[in-house]
Amino acid sequence: SSAAPAMAEAAMAARVPPDEDGDECLPQYRHLLCPDLLQGQVAFITGGGSGIGFRIAEIFMRHGCRTVIASRNLQRVAEASKKLVAATGQQCLPLCIDVRQPQTIAAAVDEALQEFKRIDILINGAAGNFLCPASALSFNAFKTVIDIDTMGTFNTSKVLFEKYFRDHGGVIVNITATLSYRGQALQVHAGAAKAAIDAMTRHLAVEWGPNNIRVNSLAPGPISGTEGFRRLGGKFAEKSNQFSVIPLQRAGNKTEIAHSALYLASPLSSYVTGSTLVVDGGSWLTSPNSFSALLGIASSSAK
Ligand code: NAP
Repeated sequence: SSAAPAMAEAAMAARVPPDEDGDECLPQYRHLLCPDLLQGQVAFITGGGSGIGFRIAEIFMRHGCRTVIASRNLQRVAEASKKLVAATGQQCLPLCIDVRQPQTIAAAVDEALQEFKRIDILINGAAGNFLCPASALSFNAFKTVIDIDTMGTFNTSKVLFEKYFRDHGGVIVNITATLSYRGQALQVHAGAAKAAIDAMTRHLAVEWGPNNIRVNSLAPGPISGTEGFRRLGGKFAEKSNQFSVIPLQRAGNKTEIAHSALYLASPLSSYVTGSTLVVDGGSWLTSPNSFSALLGIASSSAK
């Protein structure tokens, strides 16, 4: 479209790092930080085969990190791993886990430690979400989101703690959301699940600080080129010009989230723990929380 070059130009002027929409690596990348920032380190990334998690894996690898990407669909993480290795020249181990089942996490962490002998960083990115009014949400649907997001984050953090972080220190970054800050409509399940993770971030930061473990949350706003964006009505918001109410006037991209994750995972944030970094262009402060408009999206995004 004719808007694309103008938008690319505007993005350049605003110094927005470019991004790719699908689960593909960036065709080119300009380092803003030292390329060896994570040299010699290993990151274990749940949900690393797609969306935001995939881009976090790529950006970390472009900064010298080796990665483990883990989710339920082994084929998905295996294909993602091939792309990541080809683009960055770093090692990436794809593994199958369900964060609801601690024994699958334990087996994956054992395999990762056997391969790399260390794990320095845990990114808890695995999650599930959809739009649904509380009145139509089944008991089981609510429980499933809590199980994957909240329990999954606890399970994975605890396994990493027991198997490695307790004795060696480490960094945990929990990917959360701003949904609960203003009671986002149609999001009681995900909002409650992510708010509980933000609480967990503070509890674990307090208990595990003496073990030299930093724990922080990263709360993205609407991020283009993701499953979340597609399901939660991002295109609708784009078309209906809803981004004009966001202070930065646009959605964020996956590279921007990955850069914030890089900050939180690296020694750049060595004295930061127990905090939540909101990366949303100011969105939650000003975006409308319209029940009826969202209901329209919910019925078209349920497919
Ligand atoms: P996504 O691509 O759907 O990422 C979710 C990942 O979690 C998938 O790779 C999925 O892989 C994995 N997963 C789901 N259930 C799992 C389970 N039981 N065990 C292990 N892995 C599981 O979505 P995304 O939009 O990039 O979201 C990434 C993170 O950012 C999520 O925590 C999300 O809540 C958060 N977030 C996103 C946005 C946004 O605008 N996109 C905004 C705020 C927060 P498998 O299917 O292979 O298991």
